[in-house]
Amino acid sequence: MAEKIFEITKQQPFLTNYFADLLQQQQLVHAYLLAGPAGSGKRSLALWVAAGLFCLQPAASGAPCGKCEECQRILTGNHPDVIDVVPDGNSVKVEQTRFLKSEFSKSGVEGRRKVIILEAAEKLTISAANSLLKFIEEPSGQMTFFLLAQNISQLLPTIISRCQLLKMVIPSEQQRSQVFSQAQIPSGKADLLAGLTVDLQIAQQLDQNGLVYQLSDKLAEWYLKILNNDWLSMVDIQAQIMPLLTEKKDHQLLLELLELLAKDIINSMVNGKLHYFAKYEEQLAPKLTQTAFKQQLAAIELLLNQTRLRQANINFQNALEALTLQLLKCYDR
Ligand SMILES: [Zn+2]
Repeated sequence: MAEKIFEITKQQPFLTNYFADLLQQQQLVHAYLLAGPAGSGKRSLALWVAAGLFCLQPAASGAPCGKCEECQRILTGNHPDVIDVVPDGNSVKVEQTRFLKSEFSKSGVEGRRKVIILEAAEKLTISAANSLLKFIEEPSGQMTFFLLAQNISQLLPTIISRCQLLKMVIPSEQQRSQVFSQAQIPSGKADLLAGLTVDLQIAQQLDQNGLVYQLSDKLAEWYLKILNNDWLSMVDIQAQIMPLLTEKKDHQLLLELLELLAKDIINSMVNGKLHYFAKYEEQLAPKLTQTAFKQQLAAIELLLNQTRLRQANINFQNALEALTLQLLKCYDR
């Protein structure tokens, strides 16, 4: 766990360097709002800075050592002056705010500073947010506040304006794929999942659920038939693909996979290789590279132009069959 938190220096080097400078110069302000998607390392960053504040042997750069007693207590969640508030259900309740208030008013148990980390700050109820504002405005003692949020548009403007807003750097697909691989997702699969999400937890759910792999198998088979001008590709929609789509969100997943397929057609044009659908490279790549440039572009356009498929009121199966028909026509020239 402790090691994982220190991974943040690799995941967000710009922000950890920024905070190391502030720690070294003792110039932290009292409230930060860390904004970024799930999996971008907001909580790890807040804990890392907290460790920097309490560390007994910080590096000359200001970075925490990660090894001393204080760092270890923080990284294992056992430090009395580092308080992590996770929303209770769908919102941060008034009771939690009261708890925070009492924490605010107490001086640090060990006579030093306090760090308060409030996760999912967008879930603060308005009354909870309002009662916290006062403390953000007039902090008592040495208090450092980290509000973490995925969607700052849901936060009260008054809260945003009283915090220093820092946006997490969203990791590149390659970095995400590495993070996913380190979390035991096989590398071939990690590339596909990194094309779909920035969030390790979502990637793990997709991996365990397995639908994404079943769908990409079926899509690859379907596309190979299209490339072979095989009319059975029409049948595939009803017989192979639709049965896998049991929920509305599965439609979204299919659309995202179609986008990745389009990107892989571009990859095949660039270097003859497939990235997301690498598993099917042997079957698909030779066919794709034999196809004329113009046809490839037309097919990419069809796969990316999903206006019809995204309409809520359409029959999804009909729309996919229409897409198949257009793709067949496009390659049959
Ligand atoms: Zn330390």
